[in-house]
Amino acid sequence: MKIALTIAGFDPSGGAGIQADLKVFQSLGIYGLSVAAAVTAQNTRGVTDILPIDTQFIKKQLSVLLSDMRPDSLKTGMLYHEASVAAAARLIRKHSLENIVTDPVLTSSSGKKLGSRYLPDAMKKKLFPLCTVITPNIYEASVLTGLDVRTNASMERAAVQLKSFGPRCVIITGGHLKGNAMDLVYDGRFHVLKGRKLKGDYHGTGCVFSAAITALLAQGTPLLEAVRKSKLFMNRVLNKSVRPGSGMKILAM
Ligand code: PLP
Repeated sequence: MKIALTIAGFDPSGGAGIQADLKVFQSLGIYGLSVAAAVTAQNTRGVTDILPIDTQFIKKQLSVLLSDMRPDSLKTGMLYHEASVAAAARLIRKHSLENIVTDPVLTSSSGKKLGSRYLPDAMKKKLFPLCTVITPNIYEASVLTGLDVRTNASMERAAVQLKSFGPRCVIITGGHLKGNAMDLVYDGRFHVLKGRKLKGDYHGTGCVFSAAITALLAQGTPLLEAVRKSKLFMNRVLNKSVRPGSGMKILAM
């Protein structure tokens, strides 16, 4: 059985972070490993508080796990501290891990800051050069590039700039665009993934999309095919979403 590892935040509401990643891995037939980089207090209405895990303890979780199992792919989500970015990057290099997916989590849909001030710079310098693919949404792409990303043209400019940090592929997800939900993929050439925008607010969409890509890469699926299949997977799980609380909807695998 293929194995995928997520280094991400713990979401008690079950819609994002580690919980979402493991559900996606399981539903795509992949054995999931998870290392907590932060614990959050949140419900379907939003994130209230965050306890970042001490970087030394993140390193401990990773080294104990990797002394026993080797993941076929690895995803990073909410890392929170720049030191944790450096720790993840060092580990990826030390074990020559492949199929690296980074969802550069910076803020929640509800507006809560999910990372330190130095996080964007650390990700660009230390993690992006090791990545197979990075999956910022338009807000994250704006913070990472300093551009105001909300049109096709600005998505293209941001994707080119982000690719210059070294990832093999950049996907700027368009779920927060007004009008449509088009994702822009740039691997040296532009590809557009069209999507219909569904009514309502959904929690954990970025986590689920990047986790699906991570699972498919673990299976050996070629990158662009993994991206296209993950978009179809998104349509499926968005259509099956549930509303277990009084806030956002949660995708159902
Ligand atoms: N909690 C965790 C642990 C996350 O990783 C994320 C996003 O990546 C969120 C909350 C926010 O999710 P959303 O913006 O979809 O509500």
